Amino acid sequence: MSSLSGMPVRPILRFPDSRLRQTSAEVKAIDDDVRKLVADMTDAMYAANGAGLAAIQVGAPLRIFIVDGGVAGGDEQDPPKVFINPKIVEISDEAQTGDEGCLSFPGIFVAVKRGMRARVSAMDLEGKTFEVEGEALFARALQHETDHLNGRLLIDQVGPVKREIIKRKLRRDAAEAAAAQDDESDDASSDASSAG
Ligand code: ZN
Repeated sequence: MSSLSGMPVRPILRFPDSRLRQTSAEVKAIDDDVRKLVADMTDAMYAANGAGLAAIQVGAPLRIFIVDGGVAGGDEQDPPKVFINPKIVEISDEAQTGDEGCLSFPGIFVAVKRGMRARVSAMDLEGKTFEVEGEALFARALQHETDHLNGRLLIDQVGPVKREIIKRKLRRDAAEAAAAQDDESDDASSDASSAG
């Protein structure tokens, strides 16, 4: 897959890649490397039809995530909202339970209980601090992506039985994908639309 610029898209790490368990480090300065990373993350998220993506999912252990502009309360055409060194300020007592996906767990959706609203403080790409409150899907994305920065994953939200089922399915999918690639390079495009 390639981006609009024609450059190859950075691959998204998939469970059980151990790098996904790292705790990401604070961003010290917003420089060209960080701007390039965010551009790469944007390409990777859109190529995979995701709603959000954390930097660690493309192998960069930095406290950065992005959320699709439409999900983040803007227009669908808006660029993703960028969160640098985000902190959850508040999560509502009121909860929501709904199916949650993750680009690092392709094709897997599990019911996860989250706060209905979440307030996050972060820095944007200009280094300006902002605070935003998300509700429903946006709140879910804020909580899911913050988990990534702390090495916490979708699979940690389920019990041991479901965890084994997910592991087995992902192993089978990976084996099938490898076999298909051996066969020939059929242009298999992803059909799943997942949150980050
Ligand atoms: Zn995720």
